[in-house]
Amino acid sequence: MTRGFFLWLSNRRSLKRLTRDVPPFWKLASRFVAGHTLDEAMDVVRSLNREGIRVTLDHLGENTTNPEEAVRAGEAYLEILRRIHQEGLDASISLKLTQMGLDLSDRIVRDIMDRIVSLAYELNNFVRIDMESSAYTQKTLDLFYWLHGKYNDHVGIVIQAYLYRSEQDIRDLIEIGANVRLCKGAYKEPPEIAFPKKRDVDENYIRLLDLLLSPEAIEKGTFTAIATHDEALIQYAKDLAAKRNISTDHFEFQMLYGIRNDLQRALVREGYGVRVYVPFGTEWYPYFMRRLAERPANVFFVLKNLFR
Ligand SMILES: Cc1cc2nc3c(=O)[nH]c(=O)nc-3n(C[C@H](O)[C@H](O)[C@H](O)COP(=O)(O)OP(=O)(O)OC[C@H]3O[C@@H](n4cnc5c(N)ncnc54)[C@H](O)[C@@H]3O)c2cc1C
Repeated sequence: MTRGFFLWLSNRRSLKRLTRDVPPFWKLASRFVAGHTLDEAMDVVRSLNREGIRVTLDHLGENTTNPEEAVRAGEAYLEILRRIHQEGLDASISLKLTQMGLDLSDRIVRDIMDRIVSLAYELNNFVRIDMESSAYTQKTLDLFYWLHGKYNDHVGIVIQAYLYRSEQDIRDLIEIGANVRLCKGAYKEPPEIAFPKKRDVDENYIRLLDLLLSPEAIEKGTFTAIATHDEALIQYAKDLAAKRNISTDHFEFQMLYGIRNDLQRALVREGYGVRVYVPFGTEWYPYFMRRLAERPANVFFVLKNLFR
């Protein structure tokens, strides 16, 4: 119920405008968002890198409504890639196709993505295409396959364990030795296409992880980003990797900025690769709402602070 309500709120454009410029809301969101500007985000990247933590940078924004906005969003990512390169940081980028014009035209999004992944290729960096709601799953995969055909392992994709289709998607991605981030899924989806119960999502996550870390997948060159803060799943992944003798070259753990910092650092100390997803920018509203939806305790924290 709380989850559904906050995911519904995440799509309310009027609230986005209302809250964006209100300092108390930004103060609360800043627990999960590294700042408004690239400079602020770069400070965070440097500090995480010093602790041995890799980063993926997300310049927040989604569902752009005109081509100029999409082109500007694309240029912002080109600038991020150049800055990472200039400063020699251990960071890549994550982006959403609806920010690059997926709602507008296939040609616009394809051109923008081609420029971004081409620069990542040139600079020996990497672009992760985030997965959005199921309305975009097939289009996102189609564009990923096209980019992968051109730029190979400089581009990666995300698969959501809550979708019934994900097992087949993973089997197909293993065939091309793709770089896959596995997450549970953060959007509101109907029971016809997604597991409604958390327990079933968790079980499917394990099934998909078993496939991604199978000897066949490793043989094909698959890389797995295990994106979760769920300690039981993280322990499962550690045990599986140890049992199958899989080296840390084939997987890393990924977590969101501001969530389970203790666990991030503990995994680094144990010798695992850890990458933190660092979002920044002024378009933080839907991202923040999804973080509230994930954990009721966050909502109480927000209410307590707003009324203080
Ligand atoms: C690096 C990364 C990239 C992601 N990319 C995508 C994507 O492209 N598409 C997509 O749909 N989803 C994405 N997600 C979100 C993901 O789908 C889940 O919604 C989110 O990670 C919460 O699920 P969980 O695996 O942490 O497990 P949960 O069972 O939800 O949480 C496990 C534990 O983690 C902690 N936790 C989880 N969420 C929060 C929170 N918001 N605030 C505080 N503590 C929390 C709590 O301790 C909780 O008990 C991404 C997640 C990560 C970590």
